[in-house]
Amino acid sequence: MNNDRSRTKLLLAVLLLAVAGGVFIYMNQEDDGMGEAAGETSDWYCTACQKPFQLTTAELSEKMRPEMRDASGDGGGTEEPQARGRGDRMLVNVAKCPVCNEWKGEAARKCPECGELFRSRNSKGETAICPKCQWDPSTGHKARGERLNVGE
Ligand SMILES: [Zn+2]
Ligand SMILES: [Zn+2]
Repeated sequence: MNNDRSRTKLLLAVLLLAVAGGVFIYMNQEDDGMGEAAGETSDWYCTACQKPFQLTTAELSEKMRPEMRDASGDGGGTEEPQARGRGDRMLVNVAKCPVCNEWKGEAARKCPECGELFRSRNSKGETAICPKCQWDPSTGHKARGERLNVGE
């Protein structure tokens, strides 16, 4: 009888671990927001000098690192090396900017509509839309139904 109960507990623990692991992987994939293919370049945007730049996959190992951010902050500011996994914190990948050599590069996205390069996340950690044409990466459509481009 007792054995049965502990087995249920174990099963539950394993299940929880599996779920937690799945969420972790999912978040990781969501976070970097860059191409899957090796040998490709990824787009970045330096928030210090306001310039877009690119890194090859090979460069990423030394020019990209995860950084804990305060999700409610405005992007800059406090860097705590020992951040705990609180709900208002998030892990983002930052890259070393080749122009100013600061770790201020953030994952960027090239707009398929207008070609504008913009940060994939805003300071709150939400998916950012194209500042020029309002293209929304989460839907693949423009956030507003207006026809901003004549050629479409
Ligand atoms: Zn820079
Ligand atoms: Zn756009």
